[in-house]
Amino acid sequence: MIDTIVVGSGYGGSVVAARLAGTCEVLLLERGRDWPLPELPRSLGELMRSYLLRRRRPLGLWEFRFGRGTGTVFVSALGGASLVNYGITARPDPHIFDTWPVSWGEMQRYYDRALGVLSPSSAPVGEELLDKKFLDRIEPGRRVDLENTIDWKDCTYCGHCVPGCREGAKLNLTRTYLALAREKGLRVRTETEVVGIEPLPVEGYRLQVRSTANPGRVETLECRRLVLSAGTFGTMDLLHRMRAKLPLSSSFGQRVSMNGDALAFLYNTSHSISGEHGAPLTTSVRLRFRDHEEKLRSLLVMSGRIPRSMAYGSAFLLSCFSGLLGQTRGPVGVESRSRRLYRRIRDLWSVGAGGALSHSFMYKLDAQDSAAGVVRFTSSGRGVVDWPGYARDPILRTAVSRLNRWADRVGGTVVLLPGLHRAMKGFSVHTLGGCRMGSSPSEGVVDPECRVFRPDGGVYDGFYIVDSTVCPSSLGVPPSLTISAVAERAAEAMLG
Ligand SMILES: Cc1cc2nc3c(=O)[nH]c(=O)nc-3n(C[C@H](O)[C@H](O)[C@H](O)COP(=O)(O)OP(=O)(O)OC[C@H]3O[C@@H](n4cnc5c(N)ncnc54)[C@H](O)[C@@H]3O)c2cc1C
Repeated sequence: MIDTIVVGSGYGGSVVAARLAGTCEVLLLERGRDWPLPELPRSLGELMRSYLLRRRRPLGLWEFRFGRGTGTVFVSALGGASLVNYGITARPDPHIFDTWPVSWGEMQRYYDRALGVLSPSSAPVGEELLDKKFLDRIEPGRRVDLENTIDWKDCTYCGHCVPGCREGAKLNLTRTYLALAREKGLRVRTETEVVGIEPLPVEGYRLQVRSTANPGRVETLECRRLVLSAGTFGTMDLLHRMRAKLPLSSSFGQRVSMNGDALAFLYNTSHSISGEHGAPLTTSVRLRFRDHEEKLRSLLVMSGRIPRSMAYGSAFLLSCFSGLLGQTRGPVGVESRSRRLYRRIRDLWSVGAGGALSHSFMYKLDAQDSAAGVVRFTSSGRGVVDWPGYARDPILRTAVSRLNRWADRVGGTVVLLPGLHRAMKGFSVHTLGGCRMGSSPSEGVVDPECRVFRPDGGVYDGFYIVDSTVCPSSLGVPPSLTISAVAERAAEAMLG
């Protein structure tokens, strides 16, 4: 019997594996593959060819799932979504923890610990970036530059952090927590999917695992301690399948947040904004407002970047369709219509400093939403998040009215994306919750140490969930640092 099995190698799983390795025997199982950097997708065609299809391409990199009013993207790979993200690390505002069973103050040392390993830093491309000047003008005093897990000396500013850095500049988890865990003796099995879990009569758990590429090859493994870190849908699909053998609290699948994730463009303004197409997301403004219940809510508006190789396609599409997709606003007389039209037409044949795209702000939002999503399982046992009212959540309405205010000042067309598909109205890469942490089973699926509750109020011996699903609320900032800090805390409790 193995001491500890960790399922999934995203932030939660990698942190726990790194902290437990060397203290006991730890095996990490990951359904995805260990992606060599040169194979990470770059063009739109490569991105399509790396899409995961359960039968035809089970070792694909990424997947969509659509529920009512929401869409989510998630990743299968060694290192989880750290392989394809922007590596933005940020601490949430203190009031976020008002609904947590752990206080903001208590969490700070775990944030510090996680930052010590993730090692983010701010981009050395300093004040010369024009979007910084734009933000200082439009939201004076509110700009906060971001920190990313990027080794800037190797960064070519191509903007391909998403969907994956081929230059080796990204400090993804295989280079931070997983490297640390391997140094301490962690065993890793990639391309190995856990498909079933059951408790053993006296102590421990039995797992059915199979090769991701050859699903016919099933074997069983037994462990004393089981840490489920398979990310939003990996964790929830497995828990749903084993509910008869391991009943859970009634909070399971409830109060899911999209982390206020949204994307919009303020297209063709009268300001030169994004001359450096392709640089990663490096700056933001942090806003706060009171909702109808007088509760404080946080919004982070990041200045988005289009990867260099996709700049022309995006410029072309926006030039042709921004009029159809968006609403043009702005002060009359600041700039002639013909000047704006000229910039749009220029973008039809080449992207450059004088074109419309370089006068546009990509409004990437992370915000404190109401976490009102509910997981529904389809007949094939796959979870999807239903939240038909997500696009009308107070935080998104506030974000849109703020964007309209910006447009009224600097002109431009407000294009809310992706509005092309009904199900994609609220599209997130940061889905959180579903197995939220709480102080009792009526409040959560796991306790503050991430031990899984039994419905009677006790906890299962040696059974933990440690990933994005345990976050009890929306964070209003990108979540990887908080997931890592929560995992640091859980690992400390496991080590006693
Ligand atoms: C495009 C994109 C950009 C993002 N940008 C940022 C950013 O800049 N900053 C930030 O903080 N966050 C960002 N995020 C979000 C962040 O990366 C995720 O919130 C985070 O990775 C979730 O961590 P996790 O521990 O829940 O596991 P995940 O990273 O979701 O990993 C779970 C792993 O478990 C594996 N797994 C699933 N099921 C099984 C199974 N049955 N058996 C074995 N293995 C299994 C999966 O293959 C996967 O590798 C981004 C996400 C995306 C997709």
